[in-house]
Amino acid sequence: MTEEQNKTTVLRKTQPEPLLEVRNITKRFPGVLALDDVSLKFMQGEVHAVVGENGAGKSTLMKIMAGAYIADSGEILLQGKKVSFSHPQEAHEQGVSIIYQEFNLLPERTVAQNIYLGREPSKFGVIDIRALNKKALTVLKELGADEMISPTALCNTLSVAEQQIVEIAKAISFDSKVLIMDEPTAALTLVEVRILNALVSRLKTRGMALIFISHRLVEVFDIADKITVLKDGQLVGTELAKDVNAEKIVHMMVGRILDHYFPPLGKKEDFGEVVLRVNNCSNHFLKNINLELRKGEVLGIAGLQGSGRTELAQALFGVMPFKTGTMEINGKTRTVKAPSTAIKYSMGFMTEDRKAEGLLPKQPIRDNMLLTVRSMQSILGNIFNDGIRKSRKMVPTLAKQVDVRTDNYDREVQFLSGGNQQKVALSKWLASNADIFIFDEPTRGIDVEAKASIHDLIRGLTKKGIAVLMISSELPEIIGMSDRILVMWDGSIAGELPAKSTESDVMLLATGHETNNHSNKNDEAGKE
Ligand code: ADP
Ligand code: MG
Repeated sequence: MTEEQNKTTVLRKTQPEPLLEVRNITKRFPGVLALDDVSLKFMQGEVHAVVGENGAGKSTLMKIMAGAYIADSGEILLQGKKVSFSHPQEAHEQGVSIIYQEFNLLPERTVAQNIYLGREPSKFGVIDIRALNKKALTVLKELGADEMISPTALCNTLSVAEQQIVEIAKAISFDSKVLIMDEPTAALTLVEVRILNALVSRLKTRGMALIFISHRLVEVFDIADKITVLKDGQLVGTELAKDVNAEKIVHMMVGRILDHYFPPLGKKEDFGEVVLRVNNCSNHFLKNINLELRKGEVLGIAGLQGSGRTELAQALFGVMPFKTGTMEINGKTRTVKAPSTAIKYSMGFMTEDRKAEGLLPKQPIRDNMLLTVRSMQSILGNIFNDGIRKSRKMVPTLAKQVDVRTDNYDREVQFLSGGNQQKVALSKWLASNADIFIFDEPTRGIDVEAKASIHDLIRGLTKKGIAVLMISSELPEIIGMSDRILVMWDGSIAGELPAKSTESDVMLLATGHETNNHSNKNDEAGKE
């Protein structure tokens, strides 16, 4: 060994080489500088979170590292060697895998077929199913997920979390060194997030570099060793997670301290009469639901995934109606067997799944905003005499009310950011003059600043006397927004908590425990 070589070896030992490195990456899209001279290092055995507001450039950077996009300039080094991936498959084969928020699994194929798609073992020219399943089982075992997921299960029968594990299994089967996950927890429950975290720790000890994009800072702090913040395509900085707190990171993300993250709660005098009363209502899933919603309040509905939160919203809105019990809306006993009836009785429903239920992604913003007005016109007859032309005039006013930022209402909704899509979804209900609003996960998957503005909008509604029932799986949101909290468990309401209860009060009830802080209306009703 020459002296020169010796020196490099020593250097390497003291300063470990990044597994993956990007240098001076710039990427421009028409009208946007998505990445501006970004340089970053990703180390072996490290979980590196990349955070930033919507549009910060996170996904673009990940796609460049995974070969889905090509940078305009800059270089990528994999284990110190310059690489250029012209296709995701190439990146995959060299050990860089990416899992997108929208999965790429084939729903009608099995777990094993998906993991080894295009690489199936064959015997005499045909796919050897037995060997395929066996290989898949080995990979699932490596992840400790073999008891949870069978290689022969069809992917369309799996939960979001399970599908994610299949994606990870696929990456492992390629012997990936670098695994990139773009918002992996956005659709997961707390329990599933824990499973994912355990899996990530396992991969970390295998010496992989894990790159993790998330909006949820709590989770970022749970899992990440390093946190990088991007803003408007530029690198703001990289910090060791143990050296910073959420406030600092948020400050880096938005360039200011969000001291007003949640608007002030309602005051007693803001709450009016009961506008929605549910008496001993049940259906195939929900058991003996009792609740009261008052004018001007935000009633938070908490609970783990599967506890019946969404089912409750769907029952109230007539999507999956109650079978027994009675409901009073604005003082009158009403039967709601279909959403059209709920709309008629002035209810609005913002669904969890903006894409599938709330909005028509390929339709213009304008039409989406007027969706409910138009369906009301067909239900109620043409309440606006000159109809559609007049309602079109409402669009700029609505956009202003919800602060949708666009210069062109004819743009398709799909091209808006998540936060702006949510605002469009909200505006279509504002246009309908509903006075009871049900929000199911109003801010899931949207960035910190858009979240804050949705929260302000919700509080703005209650100030106008609108009653809000807000379902959320995010505890800070439940606690930060609710004037009262109902916690669901196993299809029923486990108890009620006052405003400003703690996360652990909520969690205790949500997991079927008792707390000292709650009153259980349903128990009382049962005793009567
Ligand atoms: P993030 O993942 O941080 O939300 P993205 O990387 O998706 O941000 O987007 C960064 C910027 O680049 C945004 O302004 C976005 O609109 C734009 N952009 C991303 N992908 C494309 C594309 N395929 N075509 C045009 N613009 C894009
Ligand atoms: Mg993204």
